[in-house]
Amino acid sequence: MATPDPARWRLTESGRRRARLWITGLASAGQLGAALLLSRAGSGQIWEPLLGGVLCAVACALVASSRIPWRWVDIGLLVAATLSVGGQLLTHDTGAPLPPSVQFAGVFLFLTGFIVLPVGWGALYAGGVLAVYSAVLLRSGDLTALWQLGLAGLLSAYLSAFGRTISAERAEAEAFERLALTDPLTGLDNRRAMMARLQKAAHTGQPVTALLLDIDRFKGINDRLGHDVGDEVLREVGRRLRAAVGTHGAVARWGGEEFLVLLDGAASAQATGQALRQAVRAAPMAGGVTVTVSLGGAALREVGTVGELLKLADARLYVAKSSGRDRAELSVPQLHEVQIQTLA
Ligand code: GH3
Ligand code: MG
Ligand code: MG
Repeated sequence: MATPDPARWRLTESGRRRARLWITGLASAGQLGAALLLSRAGSGQIWEPLLGGVLCAVACALVASSRIPWRWVDIGLLVAATLSVGGQLLTHDTGAPLPPSVQFAGVFLFLTGFIVLPVGWGALYAGGVLAVYSAVLLRSGDLTALWQLGLAGLLSAYLSAFGRTISAERAEAEAFERLALTDPLTGLDNRRAMMARLQKAAHTGQPVTALLLDIDRFKGINDRLGHDVGDEVLREVGRRLRAAVGTHGAVARWGGEEFLVLLDGAASAQATGQALRQAVRAAPMAGGVTVTVSLGGAALREVGTVGELLKLADARLYVAKSSGRDRAELSVPQLHEVQIQTLA
């Protein structure tokens, strides 16, 4: 039998957040609406839906503000639901059959407990719910309901185990994906991740600019101060570039002591290039060294493909290097000159 593909069950972090917002929002509106209808009908039983509606609204607001982890919101809702159902069980007339809504609430508690709590706690919680329900149902002699509830409990455990397998596989796949796209030394995007960004920008026609930066005379730092200091300098350069680019683009370690910054269309390549070079040389780094970078930049609108964009940025970086280093070159050579050089 074919196993379900975990990727098809994937909900991104923002997807999960949206789902929680919708569910708590709808639950709140539904319960507050029910309270309103009940009060119009002159019913005295408005407190429960009113309280539920307010609780769900609070949960919705907490998810929206992202102030506390969603897991705690989930657990808070489970505690509230448990107290509410527990209250109904305690006040239940022992001789009468349990109303279907309270039986259904038991199934909800099973399932939610298994999903929200860690495995061991989930099993303990479900055992507790089953024990309380069994006591109430045995006293009212409703053995059919007891049997049905036990079955629902088993089904919940099964669904939860299935869901956990999928979440574990999903988490594993996400971790692998992150690893495959991250440079281990600096924690920045790696070349593969940046290539994907570049291809996407080219595909959608975004007016981006690529800035290729190479640390000047970096080999000397390794030779004089050792590889570890060299590594720390690379990390610090990465951090400074990341901070200087801010929300205007993405930074990747392109390889060795080269970094590639992809600037979005709104940012000025000239001004950002200047800011990036200034940020790198602003203060000494590990081993007391101050480093400078040379920069070659090219805009996607000057070229047709990502390959040409990179070739042009690299040719301009070469010009910046050969004309003395610690400078930026954003216009020379032109694309046709690079193409002629390549053909020659
Ligand atoms: P230039 O100004 O012409 O760019 O000179 P350079 O010394 O920076 O350039 P070169 O290409 O000669 O040297 C780059 C050095 O970067 C050589 C290599 O040992 C070093 N390097 C590459 N990757 C790493 C790394 O991960 N860690 C450390 N510490 N050094 C690295
Ligand atoms: Mg280099
Ligand atoms: Mg270099």
